[in-house]
Formats: sequence, C-alpha cells, structure tokens
Amino acid sequence: MDIFGNHVVHCANEVGLKFRHDLVRDTIVDMCYRAGVLAGKEVDLGLLANNDTSLRPADILVLSWDNGRDVCLDVTIVLPFAGVNSRNLELGQAIKDAVIRKNTKYLEKCTSQGYGFQALAFTILGELEVETMDFIKRLRNYMASHDANVHMGEFLFHRLSVVVRKGVGAQLVTRLPTSFLSDMPPKKAANAKVKLKPQTSYLPEFVPGSPITGFAVSEVLDSGNPNFKKGDYVWGFSGWEQYSLIDNPHPASLIKIDYTDVSLSYYTGILGMPGLTAYAGFNKLASPKKGESIYVSAASGAVGQLVGQFAQLMGCYVVGSAGSKEKVDLLKNKFGFDDAFNYKEEADLTATLKRYFPKGIDIYFENVGGKMLEAVLQNMAVHGRITVCGMISQYNLENSEGVHNLTQLVLKRVRMEGLNVSDHYHLYPEFMELMKQYFKDEKLTYVEHMVEGLESAPAALIGLFTGQNIGKQGRSQKYFSGEAN
Ligand code: NAP
Repeated sequence: MDIFGNHVVHCANEVGLKFRHDLVRDTIVDMCYRAGVLAGKEVDLGLLANNDTSLRPADILVLSWDNGRDVCLDVTIVLPFAGVNSRNLELGQAIKDAVIRKNTKYLEKCTSQGYGFQALAFTILGELEVETMDFIKRLRNYMASHDANVHMGEFLFHRLSVVVRKGVGAQLVTRLPTSFLSDMPPKKAANAKVKLKPQTSYLPEFVPGSPITGFAVSEVLDSGNPNFKKGDYVWGFSGWEQYSLIDNPHPASLIKIDYTDVSLSYYTGILGMPGLTAYAGFNKLASPKKGESIYVSAASGAVGQLVGQFAQLMGCYVVGSAGSKEKVDLLKNKFGFDDAFNYKEEADLTATLKRYFPKGIDIYFENVGGKMLEAVLQNMAVHGRITVCGMISQYNLENSEGVHNLTQLVLKRVRMEGLNVSDHYHLYPEFMELMKQYFKDEKLTYVEHMVEGLESAPAALIGLFTGQNIGKQGRSQKYFSGEAN
C-alpha cells in the first residue's frame, strides 16, 4: 500500500477508478512487451511528484528494460490536431507538442534519479500503427462502456497517463508462447451484441471492448508473487491475448503445473477446470456406488467424456447422449460407455431413456437442461441424484425455458444439486493424484478438438453451441497471430 492507496494503476486525474484499471494496465503492459520492455520492479512514486511541494499520483509508468535499466514511460493520448491552446492543423504536431511537454516535465527529474525517460504519445486519428489503433479502440470501447461522460467521436480522451506500481507482490505477467486457450461455453458473448443475462451464467457478463476470458495454460515471464517464478507453467483463468498481467491470483484460480508427462493442452481440459468439474460433480456430489445406472448428457464434451469414464472405472452402467453419429461411436467405442444415443434422432426422449434405463436412472449428470431434463425427471430411480453441472441448451435463449415434471423429485425423493467447480478447487491435489495413477495405468482416453490460431477462435466458440466440437475445444497458441479484440 503506498500513499495513493493500493491501486496498481493510477489514472492521472482520477485515482482509484478501479474499473479503468484492469484494461489500462493490461493494455499498457501488452504494448510495453511488444516494445521489448519488462514490467517489474518497485518504484518510489514520490519521485514522480508533479511539483516540489506536494506529492501527486505519478503520471508515468516505470518499467525495466531487458538490460536491467529502468525507464519511465509517459503514455498519453492526444487529440490529433490540437495545439495547447490553439488549433494547429499540422498532422503530427499534437504528438510532437505532447512529447515536448512531457520531456520538459519529466526528463530531468527522471534522469537525475537514474531512470531513463520516454514519452509515448498517440493520436486518435492519422497514420497509426495497427497495434496503436487496437490499443485505442480497446481503451475507447472500455471507457465508453463505463463512463457516460465519454462521448464517442467527440472528445474521447483528453489525456490519459498511467502508472503501474511495480513490484506489487501479487502481480504476475504471463504469456501464451506455445500453449493453449480453451473456450468457455457460458461466455458465449464473443459477439458483443449478444449479451448473457447474468442469471443464465455462473461467469461474469462479457464487457464489450475487454478481452474475452477463458481457461489457458501460460508461461510465467515475470512474477512478484512468491508462489510463482519465471519459467513456471500455470493454468487458470486468463484473457484471449498474448500477454496477460494477472493481479493477485487466488491460489485456486491459478495453479502451477507440476506434472508434465502429458500435453500442456490437457490443463485446459481433462487435467484442468473441466476435469475437476467432472470429478467434483460425479465422484463427490453424486456419491456414486458400484453397479448404479448413470446417464450423462453432452457426453462427448470435455466434462461428459470424463464423467463416463469415471463411472465405468467405478463399475457403474453408463449411457451417454450426444448430437451426432460420430460422437455416439466415440462414446461407445473409445470412451467405454455401455451405450449411447444421438438425442437429435429421438422423437420421444422419455421413451428413449425408459429403453436404456428400465429400472430408472440412479445418477443423471446434467449438462444440457431443457427438454432433456424433463425426460430425465420422468425416468429417475428412487433416491436418485442429479448433478446440475450446466444447461447449455439454455444459455442462448432470450427467455430460459421452464421445467416440467419437477414433482418427480418429491415422488422419487431425488436430490438435485447445482455444481460450481470453484467451490471444489481444494480437491485438485487429490484429483491430480487419481488422474496420474489413471494415466500411468493407461485407463483414461481423452479427445481434444483443436483449431489453429486465435483468428479461428470466434467461429470455434460459436461452434460449441452447434456441437461442432468433440471434447475440450482449444486453440493452439503456436499459430497465434493476434489479439482477441
Ligand atoms: P463442451 O465440451 O464445450 O461441449 C459442449 C457440447 O454441448 C457441444 O459440443 C454439444 O454437443 C452440446 N450442446 C450444445 N448445445 C446443445 C443443446 N442445445 N442441447 C444439447 N446439447 C448441446 O462442454 P463441457 O466443457 O464438457 O461442459 C459441459 C457443460 O458443463 C456445459 O453446460 C458447461 O457450461 C458446464 N460446465 C459447468 C461447470 C460448473 O462449474 N458448473 C464447469 C465447467 C463446465 P452435442 O453434439 O452432443 O449436442
């Protein structure tokens, strides 16, 4: 905590506007990386006082270059043709003026303290590099979506200067050099015009202009956090972006990868969040017993294929459903389900389930909701359990459907329980022990769906909702070519 509070980023005139912090900080750090700058160390913000008598939030970002030399950057956006007090229509003049002003203000102060100084000024028009335009677009969208005083096209930013206070213990800078991102179905809002209503998702609503988030495997480039060091690989929640600055990671939300006998991509699926979801939702919440009858919907997905295999390994009878013949074949012939069917070809799901479960379903692992859930309720066994993991059929509906047949819960004394994997991260070590043993004994099969390059990501994300993927969908970072938005 410094004299300006514990903010990582200070906007020059509006210290503490937390909502601006994350985007500004991430974007600046992204840009600095591209410029070959390492974010890093402690800096005495008092040094950057605006005048000699009182300390103000500093206007600059202090970073450490590759060669270990510290440099102060002033990042400023200027109106394209404006002079200080008069109109100046010479293209580029505003930038030159801004740089001169910044140099006058900071150059001597910084160099006397042993820091290098550089002013980075951008206009909102003119011949700008693509990266600069991206930066401005992101910033503008983000700020406009949060601040009614920002009028698009009028006076976008009069001035924006940022300080990243370096060495904040919790900061971590990661990148995705040769690793993987995964799609999160509930965060379908890749299309900014489509909004999830908060009650239909267990994840925060997508904010247009901010990077889309999902689970990723990353390499740590720099860390002020004692739990991580440069060179570590981690998995956890991150942006669809090449470099991320992860602030104050919760121990459960960013996990160091120790076991590397498998592809790193597994940590976006079978060994990551979806794997833990399957384990917590089936092995723990549903309390399975040998010989019980299990039904899994969206069974070829990352979660479903693992639930089916856990059930098999426990000596249960397991049936899965999926949306294509190819997937049904996989369930039966690769993942070891006792049986499987294509739900799209079944006219009467209640009768179908009756056929597969004449004595009733002991455990239903719910991934889809809607009509499937109604049919399942009619087929539950007495004292059956339903783990409600997801309802993908409902995520995109304007109004989610109601559910018939709930009285079956009473008649059959069925326990229906919602699952949120974030409640179960404490199980991760025991889950990993089990998984390592299963891998060693070659008891598990895993299928992933890879598309190449971030530019393929939007189509791939949408494909989740039409069942184009099999298993966990990921994007190989090897072919990564740009930013998410
Ligand atoms: P996934 O691999 O992303 O697969 C999604 C599959 O769902 C699609 O391939 C498609 O397969 C099926 N699907 C899409 N729309 C459907 C519809 N309208 N009706 C029926 N099926 C549909 O999924 P996952 O990662 O295994 O996740 C499975 C579920 O668990 C999702 O609902 C997800 O939101 C949820 N989840 C919950 C938690 C939690 O903490 N509660 C954590 C992780 C995941 P078909 O071809 O078979 O239709």
